[in-house]
Amino acid sequence: MKSKLHFFRRPAVRFALLIFVGSSLSGAEPVQTNTPNDPSMPADPYGILLKPIPEKLVVLTFDDSCVSHATFVAPLLKKYGFGRTFYISNAFAFKTRKDWYMTWEQIKTLDEMGLEVGNHTLGHGQLSATGVDGCTNGLVGIEELCRQYNVSKPITFCWPFYSVNNKFQRVLSEKGYLLARGGNGQAYIPTLDNPFDVPSFTTVANTPPAAFTRAAKMVTQGKVVVFTFHGVPDGEHPGITVEPARFESALLPSGNIFY
Ligand SMILES: [Zn+2]
Repeated sequence: MKSKLHFFRRPAVRFALLIFVGSSLSGAEPVQTNTPNDPSMPADPYGILLKPIPEKLVVLTFDDSCVSHATFVAPLLKKYGFGRTFYISNAFAFKTRKDWYMTWEQIKTLDEMGLEVGNHTLGHGQLSATGVDGCTNGLVGIEELCRQYNVSKPITFCWPFYSVNNKFQRVLSEKGYLLARGGNGQAYIPTLDNPFDVPSFTTVANTPPAAFTRAAKMVTQGKVVVFTFHGVPDGEHPGITVEPARFESALLPSGNIFY
């Protein structure tokens, strides 16, 4: 069992943070490292690699600003030393059900803990059916709330409903975003895949452990497996909830979700 845990060992997670957080950890501008004179670096057509991709790397992401991200997920993952990215939207019952959704003070606390806060848009609209101006409003709306609550400006994005709008990708780049996470249920190859359509494996309430295992086994040199979670648990959307005990079991040596 011990050997399988290296999916989550600290060096890999640090790299996950480097990929998804980029400069926000160091406070510096994003570093372009695909220098042609560095033979240790793989081809990097998108200029997003900060160092060679480790042999095995899993990235955990959490969508929709669920209160359990602050009360359960963040402390648990910090305890085990894992990286994570929280994608913030103010949609659904965010404004009225603070027993289901984080307050902005809790989101600020995540940021202060050094965890990544990403942009999941104001309103969580279907962006593939939205004009560029509407997409921009959703993007900027979350940025303005981040400014209002002194949360670091997001530099990664998450497509609501995994619904990619190709026409909006240039705006994301122009506004300083490095990556945008989608769905599609396949491994991410940073040296090949469009950084504004990073695939992920979605977890729902009835996702069988075998599905996690199959996904995790796709991690190889050069390929990254990104998992999407929602609430742990998710108060408003029971169909995509993951029970806390089941989630924690995945992180422990005796767990069985990821291996
Ligand atoms: Zn969402």
